[in-house]
Amino acid sequence: MTSGAYQGPLPVKQPESDFYWEKAQAHELWLRRCNACEHAYFYPRDFCPDCGSRDVSWVQASGKGTLHTFAIVHRAPVPAFRDHVPFVVAMVDLEEGPRIPTNLVDVEPDPAHIHVGMAVEVAFADLTDEITLPVFRPS
Ligand SMILES: [Zn+2]
Repeated sequence: MTSGAYQGPLPVKQPESDFYWEKAQAHELWLRRCNACEHAYFYPRDFCPDCGSRDVSWVQASGKGTLHTFAIVHRAPVPAFRDHVPFVVAMVDLEEGPRIPTNLVDVEPDPAHIHVGMAVEVAFADLTDEITLPVFRPS
C-alpha cells in the first residue's frame, strides 16, 4: 500500500497509544510491558491487564512471531476494502508473548501458501502520512 492512495477506515489514536503509533511510523513495533509481573501485552494501555499494575513501561518488540490463525477475505466487509480483496487477516503470537490482530502480507492469499505456526516478521504499511500499520510477512 502506498501513502495517499488508502481510502479505508483508519485506527483512531488514543493518548495511551500515541507512542505506539509514533514508533510504528518510524517502522518499529513497541509493546507495553508490566514491571510488576513482567508480562508484555497488547493493545497498549496504561495498566497491566493481568495484574492491574500501573507500573508499566514500553519495550521494543523483536518483530518476530508465529502465525496463530488466519482467514482469507474474498468479499470486502466494507466498500472501502473492495480494492484490497483478497487479503489475509491474521492473529500473530509475538516472541514476547502477546497475540496481536494484524494482516499477513507478501504472501499468496491461498491456504496452500499459509500455515498455522509459520514464522513471520513485522513489516509496516504506511496507510497515510499519519498512520502506519504493523503487518506481518513470512520470514
Ligand atoms: Zn502485571
